Amino acid sequence: MAETISNEDQEALILDTLEKFLERDVAPYAQELEAEDKYPEDIVGKMKELGLFGSIIETQYGGLGLSASTYAKMIERISRVWMSVSGIINSHLIMASAVQRFGTKEQKNIFLPKFSSGELRGGLALTEPDCGTDLQAIRTFAKRDGDGYLVNGTKTWISNAIYGSCFALLVKTDMEANPRHQGMSLFIAEKGPGFEVSRKLKKLGYRGIDSAELVFSDYRISENCLIGGKEGQGFVHTAGGLELGRINVAARGVGVSQAALEESVRYSQQRKTFGKPIGEHQAIQIKLADMATKVAAARALVENAASSYDRGERCDMEAGMAKLFASETALENSLEALRIHGGYGYSPEFIVERLYRDAPLLAIGEGTNEIQRLIIAKQLIQRYPAK
Ligand SMILES: Cc1cc2nc3c(=O)[nH]c(=O)nc-3n(C[C@H](O)[C@H](O)[C@H](O)COP(=O)(O)OP(=O)(O)OC[C@H]3O[C@@H](n4cnc5c(N)ncnc54)[C@H](O)[C@@H]3O)c2cc1C
Repeated sequence: MAETISNEDQEALILDTLEKFLERDVAPYAQELEAEDKYPEDIVGKMKELGLFGSIIETQYGGLGLSASTYAKMIERISRVWMSVSGIINSHLIMASAVQRFGTKEQKNIFLPKFSSGELRGGLALTEPDCGTDLQAIRTFAKRDGDGYLVNGTKTWISNAIYGSCFALLVKTDMEANPRHQGMSLFIAEKGPGFEVSRKLKKLGYRGIDSAELVFSDYRISENCLIGGKEGQGFVHTAGGLELGRINVAARGVGVSQAALEESVRYSQQRKTFGKPIGEHQAIQIKLADMATKVAAARALVENAASSYDRGERCDMEAGMAKLFASETALENSLEALRIHGGYGYSPEFIVERLYRDAPLLAIGEGTNEIQRLIIAKQLIQRYPAK
């Protein structure tokens, strides 16, 4: 009789395998690769072997078919060691999830197995030099041309842009549409003639993973690559992936916050001032207590949002709260960790220096925290209408 494995056992097995990989193949190299802003090719090769590029893709397409809850726990663990590694799969999987949720049968059959294996890797190309938050203002235009389109425009800050080969590309297919979102479409765009990486972008943190500008000049794309096969759905398809994206970013925040806490607890037991470890001074104890409490609260918010997502419920408010709180906690904890390390916290030889540079991205990506507050408030008002 075939043995069945419970979801809990499967999750434990996956997290255990992941932790071994992180300890053996990522932790010893993270500081150096980050300092040199070098793409972690060996790590990516091992991530392929582990099937991480297919984490949430359905098993029928070669993926691991994991729930958002398990996936969030994986992202937390990865980010505890090196946040950049989580970015390599996060935006790739948001692209994959757009195809999985909204793609035609043919698109799923063609792309999802290649996304799962990591043969095709990439991300999400939404932001432009003149707009990020106000996505409906994008200028990249796909003009009908026979049985395809010609795309012209520029995208910026695109993660995985240099080493990835395939992107969910948000464009306008009707510049005059009113409301504006009805003129937006999402394509699966593979690199080819007219699709150029124009420059690599330098960053405060989140190094190792490539961020670059993409330029499209009469880039020809087939109508078969229009996700869902119908124009005008791009904004809805993009927004549909943002809940998962925000849960991802929140999970990264928990990982960074937890790492800052662990580094601080360890250091506060080693470093002595006035004849005793600094962890015995109450001023440091209060910091550690606050940091630990916030990590636990952030993790609970992520679990709440992820399980709501797994139940198929609308969870923009829950994902927004998790993203807001976990990213602000990452900012606060990384700063406190730096303070606890005194002068050493300011040195790239200590991990907390990297955490402090990585954390701010979490307040910006997948919708800034200002916007998360607006989403939460809007939902609150909708869910609790005045009587
Ligand atoms: C390292 C990195 C990686 C990234 N990866 C990707 C990627 O892979 N793909 C991609 O498409 N993009 C990516 N981005 C872009 C990112 O999503 C945008 O930077 C983000 O959405 C903010 O857009 P913006 O930078 O244009 O800021 P703006 O939209 O110009 O906002 C500027 C400020 O105004 C505030 N603001 C704007 N509108 C309002 C409002 N209505 N009410 C209140 N406040 C408001 C914002 O919160 C912010 O504080 C990445 C960015 C970085 C730094």
